Amino acid sequence: MSGMRKPGGSDTGDEGNEGDDGDDGDDGDEGRNAGPDLKGSSDLAQRGIKTDGGRSQQDIQPADRSTLDRDGDGPAVAVVGGGAVGITTAVDLAARGARVTLFERDELAAGSSGRAAGVLYDAYAEDVDAALATRAMERFRSLSDSLPGFSFTRCPYVIAVREGDPDADAVPEMVERMRSHDLDVSVVNPAALGERFPVETDDLAVAAVAEGGGWTDPGSYVEAMGERARGDGVSIETGVEVALPDAEPTLHVDGEERTFDAVVVAVGAHTARFLADAGIAVPVKPYRVQALVSGRPYAGPMVYDATAGVYLRAHPEGLLAGDGTVPREADPDDYEPGGDDWFREETAAVLRERVDHDPEIDRAWAGLCTATPDGDPLVGPLAEGLFVAAGWQGHGFMRAPAMGEHVAEGVLATLEAGGDGGNRDSPWIDAFDPTRFDGDEEFEIREGMTVRSRRGEKP
Ligand SMILES: Cc1cc2nc3c(=O)[nH]c(=O)nc-3n(C[C@H](O)[C@H](O)[C@H](O)COP(=O)(O)OP(=O)(O)OC[C@H]3O[C@@H](n4cnc5c(N)ncnc54)[C@H](O)[C@@H]3O)c2cc1C
Repeated sequence: MSGMRKPGGSDTGDEGNEGDDGDDGDDGDEGRNAGPDLKGSSDLAQRGIKTDGGRSQQDIQPADRSTLDRDGDGPAVAVVGGGAVGITTAVDLAARGARVTLFERDELAAGSSGRAAGVLYDAYAEDVDAALATRAMERFRSLSDSLPGFSFTRCPYVIAVREGDPDADAVPEMVERMRSHDLDVSVVNPAALGERFPVETDDLAVAAVAEGGGWTDPGSYVEAMGERARGDGVSIETGVEVALPDAEPTLHVDGEERTFDAVVVAVGAHTARFLADAGIAVPVKPYRVQALVSGRPYAGPMVYDATAGVYLRAHPEGLLAGDGTVPREADPDDYEPGGDDWFREETAAVLRERVDHDPEIDRAWAGLCTATPDGDPLVGPLAEGLFVAAGWQGHGFMRAPAMGEHVAEGVLATLEAGGDGGNRDSPWIDAFDPTRFDGDEEFEIREGMTVRSRRGEKP
């Protein structure tokens, strides 16, 4: 598939746009699915786990807030990183009785979460991904009703594949697998798509529509969860850059050592650098992706033009579009935060072509996603009392409500078991085992929104 990305492309681009825009197959079955074992521990009995022919599927249930331990004698857990993953983990740990301190070196949402596009969908073919996405979307919808300052706009998500794109042939089977997970996704012929939505379809070979999608402002999610966390007793220390001197739950904080029962590392693009200080090597590479906002109105569905590698959605100011992947390792402390000229130009051309939108580009920006050798994240225990959650391959925001919950439950179950969580009753997802790599793997960065990745294919 040809996507809008620059192989080995430049890391430089336009200056100063709103980088901190807070607004803003088959081998899957035999390869990857053989691995994940989603058994829950007895402490995770709230989850319904279905096992099917040697493969497991998890129906993650909402947190039961009635089980809160308000005695204040729960384990002391530090969460490092105030993005969507860290703040959700903090909220869910506190909801289960942990005494939580969250450290953020800047402000909440200052990292990738505050730069994300907020495109949310459950259109995944692989069973673990589908279960997590289902839970995440369920939680976004529920939080939209219950979390002040956060709202989620339901909107269908269209995957469009052009004539001549070899991925077109894979779409029907991919959709069939999505449907096997009870996801409301259908293959739609291009003419029917054009009748339903204001989308140009003449050059399309095939399309799929996921009815369960939506969009939100990622920064507002982090801020709103931050308020909830404070209300639930989480101590949020912003402007505090911490370090991990050893593979133990002890942090260097403002020149002091602070020891916890557990430390959860959710530092996004800084993961490899942060853990390297403790002598832990993980293959998590940051890479730039981009987004822009056009001031002209758009009222259609979310669209992912898979062949062009461009997604778009409605935005309070008009339209938001993005991808602009630069598949080259970026320096998380020194990357270009503005949108590149090529990204603006190529995205504008796709917008004109696909949805007849002549953009008035208000701002364009870049931020970092993180890649791993097999496209799956690193989630779970690294050492006794030390946990990581990173490597989202462009899907970290939309999965955060499910992953934060999973990490919180996993950490507490592991602490209760008194081990490193690597035993047979591990509450963790095997496919995401953070120790599955040596750490020095050579691998190419591949963007995460492609049809292939959605089918569960490894890079
Ligand atoms: C332009 C763009 C568009 C995107 N669109 C989408 C989308 O539509 N949907 C989607 O699901 N994902 C999207 N993503 C990806 C998404 O942003 C990430 O996967 C997600 O935000 C990761 O969340 P996180 O909490 O792991 O990391 P982050 O949000 O990066 O949070 C990590 C935090 O750790 C802090 N930190 C780092 N080091 C330290 C330290 N030593 N001490 C204390 N704090 C530290 C950082 O300051 C940062 O705030 C997009 C990304 C970009 C850049």
